[in-house]
Amino acid sequence: MPATPGPSVLSDRVAQIPPTVFSEMSALAVRTGALNLGQGFPDVDGPASVVAAAVEALQAGANQYAPGIGVPALRAAIARHQQRHYGLTPDPDTEVVVTTGCTEAIAGALLGLVDPGDEVVVLEPYYDSYTAMLDMCGARRRPVTLRAETGFRPDPDELRAAITPATKLVLLNTPHNPTGTVLTREELQLVADLAIENDVLVVTDEVYEHLVFDDARSAEGQVPIATLPGMWERTLTLSSVGKSWSFTGWKVGWATGPARLVQAVLAAKQWLTFTSGAPLQPAVAHALDHEPEWPAALARDLQARRDLLCAGLAEAGLPARLPEGTYFATTDISHLGWEDGRAFCLALPERAGVVAIPTQGFYDDADAGRQLVRWAFCKEPAVISEGVRRLAAADLAR
Ligand SMILES: *Cc1c(COP(=O)(O)O)cnc(C)c1O
Repeated sequence: MPATPGPSVLSDRVAQIPPTVFSEMSALAVRTGALNLGQGFPDVDGPASVVAAAVEALQAGANQYAPGIGVPALRAAIARHQQRHYGLTPDPDTEVVVTTGCTEAIAGALLGLVDPGDEVVVLEPYYDSYTAMLDMCGARRRPVTLRAETGFRPDPDELRAAITPATKLVLLNTPHNPTGTVLTREELQLVADLAIENDVLVVTDEVYEHLVFDDARSAEGQVPIATLPGMWERTLTLSSVGKSWSFTGWKVGWATGPARLVQAVLAAKQWLTFTSGAPLQPAVAHALDHEPEWPAALARDLQARRDLLCAGLAEAGLPARLPEGTYFATTDISHLGWEDGRAFCLALPERAGVVAIPTQGFYDDADAGRQLVRWAFCKEPAVISEGVRRLAAADLAR
């Protein structure tokens, strides 16, 4: 059918949100046959026993609506997971809700807690669904900028200036996508002090909670802000099975926190998806209970791939900061004469046969992000080696 010309049918609400750069760059990878070191999905699936548990649930008839809050077995497994790793003891019946990926937990938390005009403090560069959802909520965004010059650490003075009595909530992400920063206990304590002092809520996206490297600056590893004194009662912690167990396509996530905050997520969720995929929930419970060591093994693997990528990038003249967690590394490409990471990424398939992601769209502060490019290392070592070989062989100067 020929395309119908005419005015856009899009609502202003979604038309004002820029399209996601991941689809554009992945399409570019397909079109040019380039290696995709851009989009963050692993090229190997999670544990077979978890897939088997999903098949079993499908065949056993777990095929009708699950309870909106999530199936009891999964809520209990999530509560045990929080206890095992962090000593937190959420009540599985009132302090845990299952969502359609962490994405729906983010949407539910923001729709359930934020009114138009409310101020939300958020670390930039942003995970792109935050800005889209904050716009849909009519929130006012107060960025705290993670800059390449300062190793992508939050500046304490910027944080102090951003969190005020006008703040409704602070939206954190640690380990942080795309910078790989893992917030230290000290950095989190400052957020906690300010949150308590100003009586604001914290929503923390911890989908990379298990993908922290053992040489991280935060050698303590992942510290959920909900574990700091006085923070449980004002914090909603979000996660999912996607990143830690390499099932990004399953879209099973969760939120944990005090009942009043979990209720807010549930209140919004009931009008979004109502309930999440029934046969996948018992399988995710199986992952949490019976494959508890799998994410740590993945993290060890990823650490080796991170080192392979970062060493190769340095050799190719594209040095990246060593990330402490996640599966992303970032390079500032300005020394090659490029002023614009997007132009660099659009030229990269032709120059080198590789696709990367420009980070600038994830910053409000255009100057802070213009020259940054993100690479993903959740790929087979052979793919990473081939990617950096191509980069080293290419002429990348502007
Ligand atoms: C991938 C990702 C998500 C989305 O998680 P799903 O479980 O796939 O919805 C949320 N936050 C961050 C920071 C991510 O990188």
